[in-house]
Amino acid sequence: MRRDVFSEEHEMFRAQFRRFAEREIEPKIARWNKDGITDRETWRRLGEEGYLGPCMPEEYGGGGGDFLYDAIVMEELAWRRAHGIMTAVHSSICMPYINTWGTEEQKRRWLPPAIRGEALLGICMTEPGTGSDLANVQTRAIRDGDSYVLNGSKTFISIGQLGDLFIVVAKTDPSARPAHSGISLLLVEASTPGFVRGRKLEKLGLLAQDTSEIFFQDCRVPAANLLGREGQGFKMLMEKLQQERICIAVSSTASCRRALEDTIAYVKQRKAFGQPIAAFQNTQFTLAELMTQVEIGQAFVDRLLAAHVRGEDVVVEASMAKWWTTDLQKKLTAECLQLHGGYGFMLEYPIAMDYADAAVQSIYAGTNEIMKVIIARRMGLG
Ligand SMILES: Cc1cc2nc3c(=O)[nH]c(=O)nc-3n(C[C@H](O)[C@H](O)[C@H](O)COP(=O)(O)OP(=O)(O)OC[C@H]3O[C@@H](n4cnc5c(N)ncnc54)[C@H](O)[C@@H]3O)c2cc1C
Repeated sequence: MRRDVFSEEHEMFRAQFRRFAEREIEPKIARWNKDGITDRETWRRLGEEGYLGPCMPEEYGGGGGDFLYDAIVMEELAWRRAHGIMTAVHSSICMPYINTWGTEEQKRRWLPPAIRGEALLGICMTEPGTGSDLANVQTRAIRDGDSYVLNGSKTFISIGQLGDLFIVVAKTDPSARPAHSGISLLLVEASTPGFVRGRKLEKLGLLAQDTSEIFFQDCRVPAANLLGREGQGFKMLMEKLQQERICIAVSSTASCRRALEDTIAYVKQRKAFGQPIAAFQNTQFTLAELMTQVEIGQAFVDRLLAAHVRGEDVVVEASMAKWWTTDLQKKLTAECLQLHGGYGFMLEYPIAMDYADAAVQSIYAGTNEIMKVIIARRMGLG
C-alpha cells in the first residue's frame, strides 16, 4: 500500500537524502564496520547538508520541519544497514532534550554546532549496575558552589568515543524518596577534566557503533549546565523516551524491509532439486507471512508517526510498536537467514549481520519486557 504519512516535501527530502547516502554513506559502511566506529567527517557532511536536526528550529540552524524528516533519515540509514551513523541518538533523542528544556543560552551554545555535525551528542543513562531500573542510578552530582561534582560510571553509551556533549543522568539528591525525585540531567562536555572515556565495547552486532564506557571522576560541571530543574530529570526522561521508542520502531521496520527484499532476490536465484528455492511452498508461505507482518507493522508505525507529529499522547502505542516491530525483526531475520541455507551463516551475506544486528533492538531504548510493563500499567493491571 502507498504510505500516506509523508507529504510531497517529505518525499523530495527523502530522494535528496537517498542520493547523498548512496554517494557518501554506502561506500564507507564496510570500513566503519571493520574499524568499529564511524568518522567525524561524515557527520560533518550530514550536518552541512541539513540531515542532522531537520526538525530543530531554524533560528538554531535546524530545518524547522517535523519529526517525519528525522524518520526519513532513520529509515534510509537502516535500509542501507548504516547502523553506525546513529542520527536517532544525536538528532532525535538528544537534541530534543536541549530544545525543550534548555535555557536560551544552552540552546544557542550547543544546538548550532550539533546541527552542523561539529559537536556530537550522546546520552548517559545506563550504569554497570542498572539499566531498566533507571531510578536506581548511582552516579552522583553534588552541588559545590557554582558547580556540580560528578562521580560515577556509565556503560553501553552510544557515540561514546566520538561524542562531544553528553546528557548525563545523575542523582543530585541521593537521599530523596522516592528515589527518582532526586534525579537531574546535566550537560557534560567531553573536554571537562574528570570526564574519562573507557573501553569501546566489543559487540555481537552494530559493529560500527562506538558503544562505550564513560566514567566521571570528580568531574566539575558548571551549575549552568543543569538541564531543566533539579529533581525533574526522571520526569523529563519519561517524556522523551517515547520518541526514542518510535525511532526504534521506524528503523526496525525499515531493516525488516531490506532483509526481506534481499531474501526474495536470493530465493529466486538459488536452486535446489532443479528448481529455484522460491518455488517451494515453504519458501512462499514463509515470505508471504513475513511480508504480511511487515505491511501490518508499517501501517501501525505510520499511524503512530502521524499521531506523534500531531502531539498526541502515544506512550502506550510507542511501547507497543517498539516491542512488536523489534520482535518481528528478530523473527524475520532468523527466518530469512534460514532461507539462505549455509550462506546465511556467512558474513559475506548481509543477512548474517542483519540477524546479529537485530538482537539488540529488543534490549535498548527500554527492553521489550519493560514495554509490556508500561502497556499493562496503562491497562490498569498492577
Ligand atoms: C548497543 C547498545 C547501545 C546502547 N546505547 C545506550 C545509550 O546510548 N545510552 C544509555 O544510557 N544506554 C544505552 N544502552 C543501554 C540499554 O538501554 C540497556 O542495556 C537497557 O535499558 C537494559 O538495561 P540492562 O542492560 O541493565 O538490563 P537489565 O535491566 O539488567 O535487564 C535484564 C533483563 O531483565 C529484564 N527485566 C528488568 N526489569 C524487568 C521488569 N520490571 N519486568 C520484567 N523484566 C525485567 C529485562 O527486560 C532484561 O531481559 C545501550 C545498550 C546497547 C546494547
